[in-house]
Amino acid sequence: MKLLLAEDDQGLRTSLTQALQTAGFTVDAVDNGIDAHHQGQHAAYDAIVLDLGLPRLDGLSVLKRWRTAAVRTPVLILTARDHWSEKVAGIDAGADDYLTKPFHGEELLARVRALIRRSQGVATPTLQCGSIELDPRTSQVHHDGKQVNLTAQEYKLLHHLMLHMNQVVSRTELTEHLYAFDMDRDSNTIEVFVGRLRKKLHKHCIETVRGMGYRMTCHTTPAVTVSGD
Ligand code: CA
Repeated sequence: MKLLLAEDDQGLRTSLTQALQTAGFTVDAVDNGIDAHHQGQHAAYDAIVLDLGLPRLDGLSVLKRWRTAAVRTPVLILTARDHWSEKVAGIDAGADDYLTKPFHGEELLARVRALIRRSQGVATPTLQCGSIELDPRTSQVHHDGKQVNLTAQEYKLLHHLMLHMNQVVSRTELTEHLYAFDMDRDSNTIEVFVGRLRKKLHKHCIETVRGMGYRMTCHTTPAVTVSGD
């Protein structure tokens, strides 16, 4: 899951970035409205956390520009206390949720997770694909009822594929979701992560769609082949 965080308060930006990364998100953090607008418009995010009081271009204008340009990424706005009219203006401008400062990091995490679930049309907090179960609240994965240890990158990849079950997800899209913009990207590593997931889960859980990408297909029970000989 990849998030854009636009917050000019350095302390808050650092602590939120850490909390979100610990919860398994890839985070691009910016400190002004111009960069926020650019990133939100040109990169793919699962959700955006947008402070309304930003320098260079205020958050409300950023949000309005995105929505005018048909950027549909779910947006949670952060508003200052006592500025109730900001919330109304923000929601009118296309925000999906809001939080008033100060807030608890846990509440932000819960709201962001709910926002992503709603935008993906997933009603339950846990994702299930056959015998594989992923819980975004705890970042835990179970296979056949047993806990599977995944690295942060393996988890992010699996999470993204499970949110787009039965759809082909391109390697480029997966690379973008796994890495923040300031990191070296290598789409070949996706193949390595997919290989490891197949080994840790089961080998048919992720299908390679030649020339297009990967697809997670759900089998209710693992297929058993009985040979005649
Ligand atoms: Ca601010």
